[in-house]
Amino acid sequence: MKSVRVWECGRRNSHTPIPPYAEKIMLTIDGSHGEGGGQVLRTSLALSLVTGKPFRIEKIRAGRKNPGLLRQHLTAVNAAQTVSQAEVAGDSLGSRELEFAPGKPQAGNYSFAVGTAGSATLVLQTILPALITAGESAIALEGGTHNPFAPPFDFLARSFLPLINRMGAHVTAQLERPGFYPAGGGRFTVKIEPAASLSRIDLVDRGKILSRRARAIVANLPVKIAERELGVIRRKLSWSSEWLEAEEIRDARGPGNVVMIEIESRNVCEVFTAFGERGVAAETVANRAAQEAKVYLASEVAVGEHLADQLLLPMAMAGGGSFTTLPLSRHATTNIDIIKKFLDVEIAVSELDRRASRVDVIAH
Ligand code: AMP
Repeated sequence: MKSVRVWECGRRNSHTPIPPYAEKIMLTIDGSHGEGGGQVLRTSLALSLVTGKPFRIEKIRAGRKNPGLLRQHLTAVNAAQTVSQAEVAGDSLGSRELEFAPGKPQAGNYSFAVGTAGSATLVLQTILPALITAGESAIALEGGTHNPFAPPFDFLARSFLPLINRMGAHVTAQLERPGFYPAGGGRFTVKIEPAASLSRIDLVDRGKILSRRARAIVANLPVKIAERELGVIRRKLSWSSEWLEAEEIRDARGPGNVVMIEIESRNVCEVFTAFGERGVAAETVANRAAQEAKVYLASEVAVGEHLADQLLLPMAMAGGGSFTTLPLSRHATTNIDIIKKFLDVEIAVSELDRRASRVDVIAH
């Protein structure tokens, strides 16, 4: 890494363009590619840590209304820098260009705070792939734990991590305090026990449904909201009241409301989420989550929309894997393109019918 010259952190104005001197030795990633959001950056950071390949990213989050590095993305960059002692340039708020040259990721005790309600689960997903095989780590993360447009903590703990563990990892996560947008203030901890490598899994059939559960959580808001939401889910999915749970949280920093529908099948557990918003009726919120669950149940695929884009990276690291899913989202197709920049894998997508596709990750 020492052969790669980069600027000293923090010395640059974030809007000063970085000259493309390093193009020959660094991968260049177009941050506006495809979906053009934070995932392009996070996947690049994660795979740079895993492969040791330095990269330069331009037009960071150009597909978003507020492009460049927000606090959450900057925390992900800082986390990736910290675990690998990387050399970094362009790591400031609002920056649209970044260069990142990692050292060897080290296991350890880490603590990362987003400092706003930005998603802390997405910060974890940036460093987790490299830390899985690095040894024993303990990580504390603070920020948002239940954010729109990000995996809620429950998705991480109930859906994503169990699958990663089935691939050979030993990762557990514990929620200490939820954090909702806009107040934030959530905290969770993650323990990683050493693992040698990841191995392939195949999620072609979801298997028999073992349990169904819907939780409506309110923080510093009337519990009636949660009860109305559960009423919608009971009617829309024809579910028994025993599967529904309203939960009031009193120690959150601000108000929040989330509805999570969990469908645990023999081979995969899926979590569908919708968030309460000011000015949006509780019924509308619950309907969104229920509709997602309904589409999933009707399709018979194993993997839902969000899990699909998030499984691609660990499967590519494992050198193989497959799953059936809904028609691929733009997040997923974009992630495929970025993964292929770093790893020599083929990711084949075939349409099974109008509402189902199959993904095969094949190492070269
Ligand atoms: P980006 O929009 O590029 O920052 O990426 C957002 C990431 O969060 C993607 O991996 C999405 O699949 C994931 N995500 C968004 N909403 C959810 C959700 N409700 N459950 C799980 N993951 C989600």
